[in-house]
Amino acid sequence: MSSPVDSWAEDELRALDAKGLRRHLEPLESPQGPRIRVGGREYINFSSNDYLGLANDGAVRVAAEAALRRHGVGAGASRLIVGDSTAHQSLERALARFEGTEAALLFNSGYAANVGVLSALLGPGDVVFSDALNHASLIDGCRLAKAAVVVYPHRDVPALAVLVAGHPGRRRLVVTDAVFSMDGDVAPLAALSALCRREGLGLLVDEAHATGVLGARGAGLCEATGVTPDVLMGTLSKGLGCVGAYVAGSAALRELLFNRARSLVFSTALPPAMCAAAEAALARVQQDASLRERLWRNIRHLARGLRALGVDAHEDSAVFSVILGEPERAVAASQRLREQGLLVKPIRPPTVPVGTSRLRIALSAAHEVAELDLLLAGLAAEVARAPLHGAPPSLRPEAR
Ligand SMILES: *Cc1c(COP(=O)(O)O)cnc(C)c1O
Repeated sequence: MSSPVDSWAEDELRALDAKGLRRHLEPLESPQGPRIRVGGREYINFSSNDYLGLANDGAVRVAAEAALRRHGVGAGASRLIVGDSTAHQSLERALARFEGTEAALLFNSGYAANVGVLSALLGPGDVVFSDALNHASLIDGCRLAKAAVVVYPHRDVPALAVLVAGHPGRRRLVVTDAVFSMDGDVAPLAALSALCRREGLGLLVDEAHATGVLGARGAGLCEATGVTPDVLMGTLSKGLGCVGAYVAGSAALRELLFNRARSLVFSTALPPAMCAAAEAALARVQQDASLRERLWRNIRHLARGLRALGVDAHEDSAVFSVILGEPERAVAASQRLREQGLLVKPIRPPTVPVGTSRLRIALSAAHEVAELDLLLAGLAAEVARAPLHGAPPSLRPEAR
């Protein structure tokens, strides 16, 4: 007899197929990096969030290997039982220094951090104001918090001010991505922070795509704009090339979170060796400004090239979007680029809104300019088929 669960799965997969939304896994046969091997073929990789090329960096690997010998592999328990280690605490102190906060607390992923923080801080009777294009982990955190959720139009602070005036609550919090993960544009942090101060709201900023990328020291959009949020979430998984995330803020916030955030309390701690790797990656970010300089050289080069093709590209971050509309068009364009050795994965709903399926281009400091030119040539062929457009450019240049 066939399993009922398997027939549910087959029904759902057929429905995804019919909408052009069925996805597939593709194992890399090489380390993560600007050039990768997949299915026996080499590609230039424009789909990784390893913005500084640290995922396979020599110094980071050496630190991880040394820590593996010292600490072993698994953490063995949650932080609150016996999963805490000197490597965790040392990384947390380094992160707090980096962000200029009193304290920092690790989470196993950015997803776990957002879900844990929002549900620890908020509950019934509270209101969370969330940008319409916030990352899924913030949306899920809002749902889990059981607070009222008010979604405000993307980057629209005047509209948010009206919503704030109309939605009283016990505790009120504004949550935003710093760099929006699919469009690569940036939040109007100075204006958001001023509104929160004026109205007595808290502000949570998710720096996932900004850590290591934005700011004179690479600490993120908060550093770049001089904004101090109440809760700063950053990830170790993107610009730092490792895995995990952190919340930087006050010592009281840190202590509340390790008492209350269920995604931390009920989950095994990060491997200590990964903490040592992330600390080494953080040191690379702080000591080697040339990583960020190369990344920004690449960002400017690609933005200029896209604009020359008639695609309205911003220069806000390492993420660019070329919007094609229907999922099938994004898949076909991605396939044609692939035949030229360019890996640019198509992004479809539910990751992006319906009708905005796209090629999402993520740049690395480790890309050569000649590789960007190959991508631009591939995109020029796409433009020759039909005009393409980019994500709306950010209105405020405050992040640059
Ligand atoms: C990627 C991402 C996350 C999740 O981080 P992980 O470490 O990959 O779980 C959270 N927020 C934003 C804005 C992201 O882009």
